[in-house]
Formats: sequence, C-alpha cells, structure tokens
Amino acid sequence: MTDHNHHYEDEITLRCSRCGKPITPAEAIQTPTGYRCSDCVRQQQKVFDTSQPLDYILGFIIAAALGLLGSWLTTLIRFFTLLLAPAAGVGIAEAVRLVTKKRRSKRLFRLVGLGIILGSLPFVVRTLLNLIFHLSVGVFNPFSLLPLGYQVVYLVMAVPSAYYRLSGSRRL
Ligand SMILES: [Zn+2]
Repeated sequence: MTDHNHHYEDEITLRCSRCGKPITPAEAIQTPTGYRCSDCVRQQQKVFDTSQPLDYILGFIIAAALGLLGSWLTTLIRFFTLLLAPAAGVGIAEAVRLVTKKRRSKRLFRLVGLGIILGSLPFVVRTLLNLIFHLSVGVFNPFSLLPLGYQVVYLVMAVPSAYYRLSGSRRL
C-alpha cells in the first residue's frame, strides 16, 4: 500500500490546465495553453466541430468539381501527376476552407475526400473502359496500364493530402 502510494505521488507531476485534475506525464496532452487531460481535449474538440449543414453540401460540390478537374488534368500531365497530385489535394482543401469559412468537422473532411473520389470517377471509368477496349482488340502492352495508374496515383496522393490539410489546421 505504502509502495503504491509512493509510486502514485511520483507519477503525478502535472495538472490539467483546464480542470486542474492531476495527470501523469504519460496521459498529459500538450496544447498551446498548457497540459490537458484527455477528457478536456475531447470536449475541446467537440467545440471545434463548427461545421454547418450547408458546409457539407458546398464542401462536397467543391471537392467533386475540383476532383474532376484534377482527374482530367491527370490525363494531360500523366507522369507529372506524381509531382502535382499532393499540391492538387492541398488546393482542393484550401478551396473548401475558403467556401466553408474554415468551419470544420471530421465528417466534413471525410466528405471532401469522398467528393474528390466521386468527382474523378468519370475519368477513372473512361480510362478503365479504354483499357478494356485495348485488351479486347488485342493491342495490350504494359504501357496501356499507365493511364489508369496515373488516376490511381492521383487519388492515392490527393485525397490524403486534402484530408490532412483540412484536419491538420486545427488550433487547440
Ligand atoms: Zn482536464
């Protein structure tokens, strides 16, 4: 018992700057306003869910429209998609932030990711049909896979890049 108490006092070296609850260094979460307990951080994050219903509609439309544009550009710039797709994601995120006045929620960010994916579907499908056509007439070579590969690379890079741009701008 004594040992346990001693150990306990050893570990409690911090207090939550919001509710004053003692916290161990392991469970303390550093914020610009000091260490916080996980309960307070969770509550704080709820406060930061500032999105409004219209944000979901506008965010989705912007993401889908720019996702489509990016997907079309991918068919033109081809190899350079590898270099430009992350920037495209950031651009889409910034456009959404502008339209939604930087209001935020995780659901909104996920919806933006979905919008980019759905927006680029027309070109993904067109590329896929093209590939199937090439296969059916027997003119397949490994390079026939490249256009589809660029579309996949575009999505794999742009979607996370947009998501992290949106969610990473949180200020606690
Ligand atoms: Zn607290």
